[in-house]
Amino acid sequence: MVGPSERQVISPVATLGVMGGGQLGAMFAMAAKRMGYRVEVFSDVADCPAAHHCDRVHVGSYDDPAALVAMARGVDVLTFEFENVSAEPLKALAGVVPVRPAPKVLFTTQQRGREKTFLVREGFACAPHRLVRSREDLHAAVAALGLPAVIKTAAFGYDGKGQRKLEAGASSQEIDAAWDMLTAGVGGGVLIPAGVGECVLILEGWIDFQCEISVVAARGLDGSTAVFAPTRNHHSHHILDISSVPAGLPDAVLETAREMAAAVLEKLDVVGVACVEFFVTRDGRVLVNEIAPRPHNSGHLTMAACETSQFEQQVRAICGLPLGSTRQLAPAAMANLLGDCWTNGEPDWPAALAVPGVSLVLYGKSEPRPGRKMGHLTALADSVDEAIVNVTRARSLACRSSVRSG
Ligand code: AMP
Repeated sequence: MVGPSERQVISPVATLGVMGGGQLGAMFAMAAKRMGYRVEVFSDVADCPAAHHCDRVHVGSYDDPAALVAMARGVDVLTFEFENVSAEPLKALAGVVPVRPAPKVLFTTQQRGREKTFLVREGFACAPHRLVRSREDLHAAVAALGLPAVIKTAAFGYDGKGQRKLEAGASSQEIDAAWDMLTAGVGGGVLIPAGVGECVLILEGWIDFQCEISVVAARGLDGSTAVFAPTRNHHSHHILDISSVPAGLPDAVLETAREMAAAVLEKLDVVGVACVEFFVTRDGRVLVNEIAPRPHNSGHLTMAACETSQFEQQVRAICGLPLGSTRQLAPAAMANLLGDCWTNGEPDWPAALAVPGVSLVLYGKSEPRPGRKMGHLTALADSVDEAIVNVTRARSLACRSSVRSG
């Protein structure tokens, strides 16, 4: 049991702990340091993006409760930057330090079967689906839902990994092949195996959506919520490419998404920040796709475009401080910078930054592998269309005319 400190405000210069040292941990650390906190990071690699911005990196395995507890003893509150930390070892921390959001939030959202069960139980609209425990289950699910459909691994999928679309008219052999392919990784390389009786895959009916949007929201210790404007998200090869706000949808759709996001955080009892991703169907229905119990790539534009960034909001929420205003200062668009942009050498940052309203964030990763998120550009403009044009132009100037070193 955590004592009275559970309800107390954690003021600077307290020490905030983060599980995970990637870019989300780095941007959290930047926000926290600016506010006067100390930040300690737990990572499985020493040279992680957050290492450049924090006071101490604890290097260890996320599955090692003793290492986690040792880190937790030196911090005043613990949060995480990615959901693939096994919830079990995190439970060992519950008596040591407040963990926000609580491990049970992670447990629900890190497995698609649990997440969907939560959504259905609480009455949130989502894609029609079936939980799949066996090859026979998969065939039965296809018969029940019809095709096209998408099969997803229950745990550890991200950026389209661990997914396969089954086209209309797919044969029984193709369904078997999809089962073989997606279950080959289960148990090997998968940190969080399905619990006894849990599904290994889910089958989802294909949604012919009008667009994808997401809502980042924060919930404080006192249960108050602060919700950012929905961003409209464009993916390329299953990886987020561009996010923009305003999303250019009817007010009723945007309001529904915001209300659903706030309700998801409330029902999950999140203290911290979470992102709810949605499909907007052609007839204007809003369906939850998935939940990330942490800041999200689609919320990076809040750093340049809003009175409070999603990372400052995470600091405020986990420290029991009042949540900040989510007011947007200008229409904005964000473009991810993947490792591919480094193909011809160092990108031409001066060219990108000469585009009006454009700012750059790089994550400090040394190796620009294709598909790896290295940083992002954000453009603020008078209209969202102009912001999208400018951020796209800035990125193509940077990446096309890369400056060769030497
Ligand atoms: P996810 O990992 O579940 O976010 O899926 C990655 C991407 O695949 C989504 O952003 C969508 O573009 C697409 N996708 C996922 N599920 C569906 C679905 N049921 N219907 C249509 N597209 C989907």
